[in-house]
Amino acid sequence: MNRVFNFSAGPAMLPLPVLEKVQEELLDYKGSGMSVMEMSHRSGLFTDIITSAEDTLREIMNIPDNYKVLFVQGGASQQFAAVPLNIMKNKKADFVNTGSWSKKAMKEAKKYIEVNEIASSEDKNFTYIPEIDASKLDPQADYVHITTNNTIEGTVFKEIPDTGNVPLVADMSSNILSEEIDVSKFGIIYAGAQKNIGPAGLTIVIIREDLIGRAADICPTMLDYKTHSESGSLYNTPPTFGVYIAKLVFDWIKEQGGVKAVQQQNEKKAALLYDYITMSDFYHSPIQEDSRSLMNVPFTIPNRDLDAKFIEEAKKNGLETLKGHRSVGGMRASIYNAMPLEGVEKLVQFMKQFKEENK
Ligand code: PMP
Repeated sequence: MNRVFNFSAGPAMLPLPVLEKVQEELLDYKGSGMSVMEMSHRSGLFTDIITSAEDTLREIMNIPDNYKVLFVQGGASQQFAAVPLNIMKNKKADFVNTGSWSKKAMKEAKKYIEVNEIASSEDKNFTYIPEIDASKLDPQADYVHITTNNTIEGTVFKEIPDTGNVPLVADMSSNILSEEIDVSKFGIIYAGAQKNIGPAGLTIVIIREDLIGRAADICPTMLDYKTHSESGSLYNTPPTFGVYIAKLVFDWIKEQGGVKAVQQQNEKKAALLYDYITMSDFYHSPIQEDSRSLMNVPFTIPNRDLDAKFIEEAKKNGLETLKGHRSVGGMRASIYNAMPLEGVEKLVQFMKQFKEENK
C-alpha cells in the first residue's frame, strides 16, 4: 500500500482508521451478508447508522435541542438556493462577500430575493475577512449570510458576527468540525461533506427549528427543510453510504478527544506551515495574518515559473494536489482534520529542500 499525503481542497483525505473500517465492513456489514451500499435505507441496520451519525454529531458539535440535523444531497451549492427558498419573508438578505463561494451564493439567492452586500474584501483580492459595519445590517433582512472558511482564498472568520434577531446563515463547508463553534449563534449551518465529513454526495444542514416550515410556495419539495425534518432525512433515499462514512468520521473525531482536541491539532499543523512560510524569505502567504485559515493555506514562491516544478517534485515525494486554485495561482495546501501532523511536517521539509535548490 502506498498512500500519499493528499492536500486536495476536496474531496479530501479521510482518516485512515475510517477507511480501514469501511474496508473491513464492506462485504458483510455486521453479519447482514451485504454491504451498506446494498442495504435498504428503511432497514433496521441503516436506521441505527443514521441515528448514530446524528447523535454523535450532536454530541461533538454540542448542537442544542432546538436545532434539527438534516442529511441531504445536492452539495453546498444546492443550499445557495434552498436557504432563500425556505426562509424568504421580506425577500431580502445581507451577504458578506469573502470570495468565490460567497459570490456564487449571492448569485443564486438573487434569483429569488434582493441581495445586499454589506461587506466585502474584494478590494484586496479576498485576502482578509472584512469588518462588518453594524449600521449596514438590515433588521428587516430575512438572514445574513457568511462563508465561514473560504476554501479557495484561504481565509476564515475568527469571530462570528452578531446579527441580533436576524438569523445568521453560514456556509461551513470547509471548516465544519475543525474548530469549536457555538451553534446557537447560527440560524442555519450547511456544509458539503467532502472535506471534513466524508465522501461527496452528502450535505449536512443544521437548522434552528423556527426556520423550518416557512418555505415559499415555489420551493421544490426536495429543497424544503420541512420535508427532511419531518421524515428524519428519509423522505426519499438518502446518500446511504455517505451517511455511513460520516458516522465513522464522527466516531473518529470523538475518539480523538472531540472537536476541541482536533482543533488543537489543526492549530499545531497550521502554525508549523505558516511559521515556516513567514520565516523562509522565499515562500509568501498572500493572506492577512489575522484572517488565515487553519484548513486551506495558499502560498506563493517568488518565481512563478517554478510553480509547476514545485508541484511536480512534491508529487514525487508523496505530497499530492498542491496546485493553487486556478483563480488564485501559486500553491495551496489543504490540511483538513484527516491530514496527519506528519503530512505537514513532510511538506515543510520538502519546502526547505526545494528552497535550497531553487533560491
Ligand atoms: N462552499 C464552499 C466554501 C466550498 O468550499 C465548496 C466546495 N469546494 C462549495 C461551497 C460547493 O460545494 P459543493 O461542491 O458541495 O456544492
